[in-house]
Amino acid sequence: MAAADPWNPGTDGLTPVWVVPVPILEDELISSWLTRSALAQGCDPLVLTGAVWPNWRVWTVDVDRGLPEDRLEVLIQACGVARARICKAGLEDVHRAISCRIDRSIWPWLLAYGTRNRRHRGGLQYCPRCLGGNHIPYYRRAWRLAWHTSCGNHGETLHDGCPCCSAAIEPHLLTVQAIRLDRCASCGGDLPQAEHRPLQPEALRFQQLADEVIGVGCGRFGDQTLPSREWFALARFLVALLRRVSSGKSWGLRHFLMNLDVDPSDIDFSPVLQLPLELLSTGERIQLLRPITGLLEVGVDRFIVAAREARLTRASLHSVQPNVPTVLGPLVKSLSRSNYHRQRKSMRRSEYPRAPSAVLRQCRLMHRRLARR
Ligand SMILES: [Zn+2]
Ligand SMILES: [Zn+2]
Repeated sequence: MAAADPWNPGTDGLTPVWVVPVPILEDELISSWLTRSALAQGCDPLVLTGAVWPNWRVWTVDVDRGLPEDRLEVLIQACGVARARICKAGLEDVHRAISCRIDRSIWPWLLAYGTRNRRHRGGLQYCPRCLGGNHIPYYRRAWRLAWHTSCGNHGETLHDGCPCCSAAIEPHLLTVQAIRLDRCASCGGDLPQAEHRPLQPEALRFQQLADEVIGVGCGRFGDQTLPSREWFALARFLVALLRRVSSGKSWGLRHFLMNLDVDPSDIDFSPVLQLPLELLSTGERIQLLRPITGLLEVGVDRFIVAAREARLTRASLHSVQPNVPTVLGPLVKSLSRSNYHRQRKSMRRSEYPRAPSAVLRQCRLMHRRLARR
């Protein structure tokens, strides 16, 4: 196996090819494949990517989102893997089914790495049994998706940290001595040795439903069929609604949910839950995603009845999120208007020194936000 130089010149002396061809495995992430490729050539991932892209620090960006055309062309020349196969290992196709915008710093429903230099604060999960059960350990595309919290094959809740040191999963920081991808880059711990945590059936139900929506391109809300983008926008709005209620900010919304047989007290409020969904841990997302399937089965007509019984106003619905999904238009129209600006003004007037516990909570949130930037 080659040592420091991760490639050798091709027969024409111009086209470099990797010494050891490394095929992309079933549902494998680009980042996982690049890391495996480096270890197979006998070098660190940083050495391999530095040879392929000398002027690009690939590990400071989210490479799983896909590669720019010029970078992709260089990679194809180096590795010899077909363009279509490399593109399939990215998550751009999943993102297009969810949103039409790709210019955001956080893509909706794609777990964010929270990158600082080459370090990640999170963003990658794994099933210990899937990772350890393979002859060749590798990371799946599904483990980057925010609605994935479980492994249906092993009845296991996914892990998002090292069982030994709790560090984030950062396979791209492994060195050549690691040989395999199932080791922690921080402490060398054996990731498949993580303890068994049974999955939450309701969270798995939502996961399967969302996978189905990506597969067929549409999903259900009551008796309506929605294009996948609208379905995910609605699910995201419902998550935001649960978070608002769990923060104790709206009694109207709380009653609305209870009228729909969702008990908000089942969700332990934590200030951390104010972070974007894509930055939350697996355990935090499970809490928020569990009730969503039931709410999606209900449909807009029952939403209207529940909202009227809870005396919900348009303002309280807009307080969840300024842009209420189109499919909830009939619900918005059915609600009475209220003077949102006057309500905000009166809230400002009533401001007074906050309780020490509230200030401490806010400090903890700020620390976590800063850490994840
Ligand atoms: Zn598994
Ligand atoms: Zn570790």
